[in-house]
Amino acid sequence: MPADKSEKTAAVKKTAAEPKTAPVKNVKAAAETKAAPAKKTKVPAEPKAEAEKKPKAVKAKKTETVKKAAAEAAPVGAVPVESAPVEAAPVEEPAETTPRRSVAFIGSECYPFVKTGGLGDVMYALPKALVKHNCDVKVILPRYRCIPWEYQQKMVYRGAFGMDLCADGRSYYVGIMEYVWDGVVYDFIDNEEFFNSGNPYTNLVDDIPKYCYFAKAALAALNYMDWIPDIIHCHDWQAALVPVYLRTLFDNTKLSRARTILTIHNLKFQGVYNIPTIKYWSGLPDYVFNKDALTVNWVDANMLKGGLTYSNAITTVSPTYAWEIQTPAYGENLDPHLRYHAGKLRGIVNGIDYDIWNPQTDKNVPHNYGADDVLEKKKANKRALQEELGLQVDDGKLVIGLISRLTDQKGLDLVNAIMPQIVDEYTQVVILGTGDPMYENSFRYYENAYRGSVCSCIMYDEARSHRIYAGADALLVPSRFEPCGLTQLNAMRYGTIPIVRETGGLKDTVEPYNMFTNTGNGFTFDRYDAGLLLDAINRAKTLYFENRWCWDEMVRRDMDKDVSWDSSAAQYKELYLQLT
Ligand code: ADP
Repeated sequence: MPADKSEKTAAVKKTAAEPKTAPVKNVKAAAETKAAPAKKTKVPAEPKAEAEKKPKAVKAKKTETVKKAAAEAAPVGAVPVESAPVEAAPVEEPAETTPRRSVAFIGSECYPFVKTGGLGDVMYALPKALVKHNCDVKVILPRYRCIPWEYQQKMVYRGAFGMDLCADGRSYYVGIMEYVWDGVVYDFIDNEEFFNSGNPYTNLVDDIPKYCYFAKAALAALNYMDWIPDIIHCHDWQAALVPVYLRTLFDNTKLSRARTILTIHNLKFQGVYNIPTIKYWSGLPDYVFNKDALTVNWVDANMLKGGLTYSNAITTVSPTYAWEIQTPAYGENLDPHLRYHAGKLRGIVNGIDYDIWNPQTDKNVPHNYGADDVLEKKKANKRALQEELGLQVDDGKLVIGLISRLTDQKGLDLVNAIMPQIVDEYTQVVILGTGDPMYENSFRYYENAYRGSVCSCIMYDEARSHRIYAGADALLVPSRFEPCGLTQLNAMRYGTIPIVRETGGLKDTVEPYNMFTNTGNGFTFDRYDAGLLLDAINRAKTLYFENRWCWDEMVRRDMDKDVSWDSSAAQYKELYLQLT
């Protein structure tokens, strides 16, 4: 729960009494400094009782401090807090009456500011869904330079301070820029040195220091704002040091009463680098570099592993993936560690945001539709898509879509191997994705080889992805592993039949079609094998061309399936309540 009011006021006063750039040396020291007027501070802190006696003076001092910090350190475009046009947060009526909980989300990307994959979708949609479940949510993100200007210009300057980061005590600027939208508060950590690149992720050499800084700065920012959440919910390796910092350098601060959750969105990415580098950049104490926490292979430090050890709960994005990652086949070398922590690990499947993914209102879709008129409107959307992509315009053809990062994870070697068998005079294939040049080039090759039947859009295009979901009949997701997968959920919402491999979240969300009972949501195959993928595609083709009535039934069934965040958000809320 948030700090009680008196404590909060006192804390604000204490913060205000401190010099604006007092480096957060190590937060333990900072906390000690606050408790007693210590020798360590450069400018002596005002004793608490004194500060309480003079609230006005303190307030004036704080305003002055903030203004000064804004003038000195606010980046271009930052607006001082007094004059900024804050977008009012609509006060949402809670949809339910479970006790209120405050939650800080910490992660490296979030739609619509910056998104490279499913994590960005979740960081946007889950907080929004949690607001409806009586949660007070703050999302903490890096303020990357690549965030579109339309959002940058609406951010409001919240304050700035200096923070020690590295083992040698170098101090770094931490700015806080705030944006309130849809009942969720977004706080962006501002530092041009770390977040100046055009992409959120560059290479590990730069990313390791960047996310050491981000994890510590996120906690320091919460401390600075005196916003003490019940739950700190961290996402993937980029935020995995948060629980480690919380139980070490921030152990003596008010923040340490928060409980932590670490969600694994993709176990493949763990933030592994040699121990001296991570030790230097994180400034973490030596004892966390042991084999039960950060150390792996005796020589490397693994940021995700450290987070798993120190968090109070671990979640991943589907029950099947939660089970799979405890096995050597999917465990990415962390399976023994995950088995050890199995008691605090659970899977909660992702949902999709029904405001963004709604074929009835989607502005990117030429002909909007619902379950009632899906059959005719989907044909119109298919024709529009074929025209847009230079395919032969014929609504009688089966159009198979593939929307994906083009990486090994996504099973594209299987698709490549059987492309000549998939494409025939009745079938077209549309690919949208970027990634590994090997896959980009092979799909370009197939576009050339099958002009009019295959279109490879080697790009990232949000609007076009919506038109493919609306215009295609089926969507391929043959992943080697898939923590949850969102494209199959989007597809079902748009009445597009998923063809998926039975792994991770794909297994949990797509029920295989049963021709005897006429039930199920899509076509599935189990072993990672090109022949089995082709078999699944052929089963889909057979149903589409020979039993359209059953196919259409499945289209409507998929559109009616609940793939929203509602029940998943309820499960997260339940977990928050259990932990607090
Ligand atoms: P991952 O997070 O592994 O990339 P997910 O299926 O969880 O995969 O999420 C992918 C998300 O990114 C979906 O919303 C999908 O529509 C979107 N997406 C992937 N590639 C592209 C692309 N090239 N253009 C537009 N959207 C894309």
